[in-house]
This record gives sequence, C-alpha cells and structure tokens, in this order.
Amino acid sequence: MFLINGGRMESTLIGCPRDCYDTCALRVYVSDNRITKIEAADNWYTGGILCPRAARDIERVYSPRRVLYPFIRVNNGVFRRIDWDQALEILVSKLREVLEIHGPEKALFLEYAGNRGIITRYASRRLWNFLGVTQTDGSICDHNGSMALRYTYGSTYGAFPRDIDESKMIIAWGFNPAVSAIHLWRRVLEVKEKGGFIVTIDVRSTETAKQSSDFIKVKPGTDGYLALGIAKYIVEKDYVDKEFISKYTYGFNELVKRLEKYDLNIIEEITGVPKTKIIDLADRMHSNKPFTILIGYGLQRRYGGGEIVRLISIIPALLGLHRAFFYSNTDGLPINLAEVDGSLAWNPRKIISMEKVGVELANGNYKFVYIHLHNPVATLPNAGKVVEGLRRNDVFVVVHETHWSDTAKLADLVLPAPTFYEKFDVVFSYTHNIVYLNKPAIDPLGESIGEYQLMCELTKRMVPSKYSDLCLEPIHLLKVALGNKNLDELLRKGFIELKPKPKSIYQTPSGKIEFHCSLSKWCRELNLPMREGIGGNSELVLVTSAHPLYIHTQFEDVYGSIKGELHVNPDDARNLDLSTGDLVEVYNDKGKVVMRAIIDPGLSKGVAWAPRQALTYSGERINILLNDDVDKYGGAVLNSTLIKIRKIHSPQEYLREENTIFK
Ligand code: SF4
Repeated sequence: MFLINGGRMESTLIGCPRDCYDTCALRVYVSDNRITKIEAADNWYTGGILCPRAARDIERVYSPRRVLYPFIRVNNGVFRRIDWDQALEILVSKLREVLEIHGPEKALFLEYAGNRGIITRYASRRLWNFLGVTQTDGSICDHNGSMALRYTYGSTYGAFPRDIDESKMIIAWGFNPAVSAIHLWRRVLEVKEKGGFIVTIDVRSTETAKQSSDFIKVKPGTDGYLALGIAKYIVEKDYVDKEFISKYTYGFNELVKRLEKYDLNIIEEITGVPKTKIIDLADRMHSNKPFTILIGYGLQRRYGGGEIVRLISIIPALLGLHRAFFYSNTDGLPINLAEVDGSLAWNPRKIISMEKVGVELANGNYKFVYIHLHNPVATLPNAGKVVEGLRRNDVFVVVHETHWSDTAKLADLVLPAPTFYEKFDVVFSYTHNIVYLNKPAIDPLGESIGEYQLMCELTKRMVPSKYSDLCLEPIHLLKVALGNKNLDELLRKGFIELKPKPKSIYQTPSGKIEFHCSLSKWCRELNLPMREGIGGNSELVLVTSAHPLYIHTQFEDVYGSIKGELHVNPDDARNLDLSTGDLVEVYNDKGKVVMRAIIDPGLSKGVAWAPRQALTYSGERINILLNDDVDKYGGAVLNSTLIKIRKIHSPQEYLREENTIFK
C-alpha cells in the first residue's frame, strides 16, 4: 500500500526532508538492503556538494541510538520491549479514555519539522485534525516574519535561487547561510565572483560576514531602525521608483510621514551603525539593482521581530523591485497542503502557542500527549517546564521517533519510526522549487512503521467508520497536493521543478504591497521595534543559532553533544573577569546552567551567543533559559532572552561532570 512500484535500485535519488533550507538531492547506494554510500546529486541546486550531516548519515541510520521496537516504561527510566499489538492496544485505550472522559481538548498532539515530507508530516495530521485534539500554532521558527510578510505582501515568498543568480548585490541580514544554507551560499558566492557586492548585517561576525564584501555590525534588536534609516535616505534622495509605487503599493504617503520623524544621527546612535555606512548601503542598493535581501529567522525571534522583517522587506519595493527578499518560499509553490492534512475539513478545538507548551504541560492541562517529528524537551523555550510537564503522573506520553531523543526518554510509550531512507514520500523545499519523489532505499529497520501508516493503524482502531475518509492512498493525497500533471511528471522523472507564483502578484486586501497595513488595526502604522536595554544590571542578551554539524539535535549520536560553550564579547568578559575556558554559571528567572566561556571579539557588546540546543555542563539544554514569551505578531522571542553570568571560581566539581557528559 505504501510503496509505489516497490522496486529496489542499486542507487536511488532521495530528497533530504530535514528542517534545513537546502532540501538537497542525495544519491543513495544500497547493497544487500544496506546503505553503503551517500553522495550529493549533481543537480543545479545541490551541485554535488555534500553537507557534514549527510556525509555521516549512514552512521545515523545504523546508530545504536535508533528506536527499533515499541517500548513501554515500567519503572523510572526503565523501558520494556513490547510488540506492536500490545503497543497499539495501550495507545488506543489511553487515548479513548481521555477523549471520552475529558474531551479532545485534554489530548495534545505535538509535531514539528523533524521530517517535512508531504506524507510523513502533513498527511499524518489527518486523524488528529479529525479528532479535534489540541495542537500548537507551530510558531517557534519563522512565525513573526511570516505574519509580517503576509500583512505587507499577502504571502511570504520572495526571490527563488534563480532570482538570486541574477542579483548584482546580496544583503544577508541576520542570516548565516555559510553555515545554515551552504548550497544557497554557494550561489551567493558565485554572484560575488561575477563582481557582485555581498553585505552581511548581523550582531556578530559570522562565517557569512567573514566571506562577505562588507560587514555591518548592528546592536541586537535595532535592525528595524536600520531599515528605517535606509528607507528615509532613499526617500530623501528621491531614489524612489514613483511609477512602481503608484502601480504596486498602498500607503506610501503615510510611510513618508512616519519617516519624517527619524533622523540618521539618532539612528546611528540607536543601531551602532555609522551614518556613513547607512548612506553607503542605501546608495549601493540604488545603484545595484536587482539586489536580494536574505532575511534570517534569528532576527525575528525577538520582541518587535515581526516589525523588523516588515521594515526590511519594504526597502526593495521603494526602489521598484518585486519581492526582492528571500525568507520562506513555501507560499510561492503550487502545493495544496491544507487538503492533504485535512485542515480544510476538520480543525483542532483548541490551539496553543508553541512557546507556551512547557507552561501548559507543567500546569497539568493535558492527560494524553502524542509527539512525533519533534523533540520539544530540547528545542522549546523554558524547557524545564516541558520536562516537568512530561514527568507528571497524570499524563500519558507517546513518542514516535527514529532515535532515543531527550523527549523519547521521558515518554510512557515509545514507538519506532523509520528514517527518510526507509519510506515512501514526496519532499518540497522552502527555498527552491524542486520537488523530490522518495522511494525507500532500504526496508524499515527493526519494527519501525512510518507516521502515516501508524496514523492509519490508529484510525482503524479509533474511528473505523472514518477509515476511508482519513486514510487515503498516498498517491491520491499526492494528486491533491500537486495536481495530476505535476504528479505524473514526478512519478516519471523522480523529481520536478514547480513553477513559482508570479512575484508581481500580491495577495493583500488591496492587491498591492501594503506599507500601511489594511489587514490588522495594530499593524496599520509602522510600530517601532522594541529597544532592549542591554548591558544594564550586568545582563546580556542571549542569541542562539545553528551549528554546522547539527540540525537541531539530529546528529548528536554521530558528532557528540552540542557543546555548552557561551561566546562573550571581550568588553563584557573584562567586566565579568572572564577568560576563554572559564566555567561560568549562566542564569535568569527560568533557571541556571553551567557553560564554558569563549571570548569572541566578533560579538557586539552586550550580546552572548551559544549554539542552538547546546548541552550545558550541568546537563540541561540551554533552552531552559530561553524566553517563552510571544511577540505581537504571535511568534517566538527566543533571542530576547536576558541572562546573567557569574564566574565559577572552583570548577573541580563541574569538571568531573563535564567528563561524564562528553565521554
Ligand atoms: S541537512 Fe540540509 S544541507 Fe544537509 S543534505 Fe539535508 S538538506 Fe542538504
């Protein structure tokens, strides 16, 4: 049922479905039903370049940390292997009991982007949508910026990679593609090789900054002011494309009135960016059209983050460019996901903020939690509360996972899931327009069962009368998602290039780019992004971002734990009497962890940086400290976390612990 043509090939093309910008094509070699080699396919996007994760993926597939059988918790931390019939019986009876006695609001379905396959991620939501259980708004990643772009442009899509190829200038704004999107970055470097100009704007000197033509260091949270300064100068210098403004935009006069309030000298003071640099950047934008602004996710995970993206995104429009930004291109592809996941027909009764999952769980708001494609113990903010909530005696936790994640270790029932090399799926990208057909390269390991197949097994037992509505053949779901013509081509070739939606069409109420937003009262005016007090009371702003060896916590079983290193600016280090290698206690109102200090001159004063999901020397993820508040645009403010740092003067006890953690 779940295989198409079922056949095995010596090598097969697989689209990588991880939560990664690049969605690479991988050529997978198999002998005797075992993967022997993985290489990057030489298509126009992946270009034969293998990332450090895929290079070690065979080890991950055959890792001793794989979950290969169903397990039930019998004692504190002790699991006993059971068979699938027993596992399903336990799962169904617990779920039924909660639905009947407490109602669907008391059951929580947690999923995220551990695998973004259309069947694995989207189709497997159908039963949960039908049951109406509580779900999250999925707002942890790009939500503030996505909402901002929807208010302004009607949708989030912008420049696709082939548009980037045509650019004369690239601005990487709060984005570190040299680490987090190496294939996209390769194209940017080609622009530079052709004589183009590359600018990075960031709070720290990233790998991207080091390889750029210019680097502008900005104080954290002030990027919106910098965008205002650029916009003001563009208007004052009469660089504005008047024909474009009148044909494609709404609210230009209101914008001009607002810009009158700002002065470049004040903007220099707020942002820390010299006025001459602001002018130089605006001049370059004017004389280097077309350009593309690559907008990162990190800069919008903060108070005012939505507003920052909104302000950055309007700059190209002032200069007469359609959607000359890159943020997330899913909206720009003709894929019908709402019908695949059933959300057009059925809805959860209650949706909670993803940032508040920890508090919700710890408050005992749920009796049953089902988790797949997600490791909330490691990835959500205020993670101490997630742990506290999952450990409660009055909640039954089911985790369907490929590996023994932090979250699986806290579950009551752990079920084995196959990796993407072991199942059928179709994978699209949020960066480019290539869609891949994944036929399984090998059989599922152990007794693992795919997410959609498991959902159908549950449907059979929970709501047999609805089976034919909920469990459609995958091929039928793909027809719904892609349309007959595209699916036929995909099945024939193994991949397809979808035609992106036109960049000059805007899905806003006015049908234009809205400088003056008509969708929501509070976003009608340009609201200044919040300025955070930094450096006061010896508090620093903690920023976390991707490490090149990991996708969140994936690959810790190959590369070891994500080290608990905290980068600190030399001025702050001097104030705190810190040297590289010192152990420090890092704390705030959410908890405390022990980390190792690294003095980093590339950071702005007042900012500390750590890799995402770093495992600290005291054994917790850094996420226990992260701010679980929500921005006005509804998304995460992880990078608005304030911390204090105290040097540990007698580190012996922690060093013993370090050896235990990292051996
Ligand atoms: S993790 Fe990212 S860069 Fe690596 S193979 Fe997958 S999509 Fe490509």
